[in-house]
Amino acid sequence: MNLHEYQGKEILSTFGVKIQKGIVVNTPQEAVAAAKKLTEETGTGWHVLKAQVHAGGRGKGGGVKLAKNLEEVESIADQIIGMQLITPQTSAEGKKVHQLLVAEDVYYPGETETSEFYISVLLNRTSGRNMIMYSTEGGMDIETVAEETPHLIFTEEIDPATGMLPFQARRVAFNLGLSGAAFKDMTKFVTALYTAYDKSDASLFEINPVLKTSDNKILAVDAKVTIDDNALFRHKDYLELRDIREENPIEVEAGALGLNYVDLDGNVGCMVNGAGLAMATMDLIKQAGGEPANFLDVGGTADAARVEAAFQIILKDPEVKAILINIFGGIVRCDRVAQGVIDAYKNMGTINVPIIVRLQGTNADIAKELIDNSGLDVQSAVEFQEAADKVQTVLA
Ligand code: GDP
Ligand code: MN
Repeated sequence: MNLHEYQGKEILSTFGVKIQKGIVVNTPQEAVAAAKKLTEETGTGWHVLKAQVHAGGRGKGGGVKLAKNLEEVESIADQIIGMQLITPQTSAEGKKVHQLLVAEDVYYPGETETSEFYISVLLNRTSGRNMIMYSTEGGMDIETVAEETPHLIFTEEIDPATGMLPFQARRVAFNLGLSGAAFKDMTKFVTALYTAYDKSDASLFEINPVLKTSDNKILAVDAKVTIDDNALFRHKDYLELRDIREENPIEVEAGALGLNYVDLDGNVGCMVNGAGLAMATMDLIKQAGGEPANFLDVGGTADAARVEAAFQIILKDPEVKAILINIFGGIVRCDRVAQGVIDAYKNMGTINVPIIVRLQGTNADIAKELIDNSGLDVQSAVEFQEAADKVQTVLA
């Protein structure tokens, strides 16, 4: 589950990580009120207004702007709220902005220069350990840093038995070139950041930039946080942080039906039981020259109701030009699945895309007979390759 910046910062704050303070709002009027409140609390006269969408690169797309007085707060808020924000990380049509974070300006001038760093905590899948990845090159695209100046990216691997050790926090602060109060503040920052990641069962905490202010404080200015869905049962209070407006609507609907569905860019809809077979089916479609429109695992019980639900989900994608049903009947008998397909087809009235069904396993022969004699526009296939080739034929 991905979180908004303001939600990620709230979690950070509860674990003692210093953040750029802010208030989330829905209207320009609320933005002005929030700015006044922040001025009372922090003394800041300037505010930064930040679009809250699940995508990075908002600054580049015009979703992060500095307001130097309350009139500017109101006019910029009016501009950003409701806009379609296009960033390097969104699709071409962008994302609609529903909420705005009004934050204190933390780039104020002072005795020293401000510096921006990059710090993230994530799982290193190769070593199976959490690690801190950090760089002096904050505020930039970390992918660009990795490509052009990889020697400026450092990592610190965390031993699960000990957690993060003090010398590791000091090494982070040292490699970031800090000294004095900022050095000390950074060791506290990174230690609290790791605790936040660990205790919230996150799979990512990416803070870009981490800011050293002109008076040598270390703050999180941005927060990209992903919580591990499989751990959400341990964090019931995080469930309300989910913003389904940010998610793919078909995926949300499929999830509610208990279907494991991932939307993709191609035109061949897939209905498969088992994640492994679903992956293999997508590979074969591609090998035959097609492009899968989705990943869909209907699970172990492919009865008529489930097959119908899956049909409906697949057909919501207007790109779908053919459907390949590839079911292995191990526990579930193929003839039952075939009957399910036929019943679902009849219930749905007209399905305007050709359907190819491959059923293998228990009672596969009876299933093929059922399909072939159904009188419906459904073709059966026995072999995997044959099924993929038939898909290509109907698309041609
Ligand atoms: P992103 O573009 O989606 O990654 O959004 P960020 O939260 O990282 O903000 C983008 C950029 O806005 C940062 O890299 C900063 O340069 C700038 N920014 C953020 N907060 C402030 C602020 O308080 N004052 C000023 N002047 N700039 C800010
Ligand atoms: Mn950022």
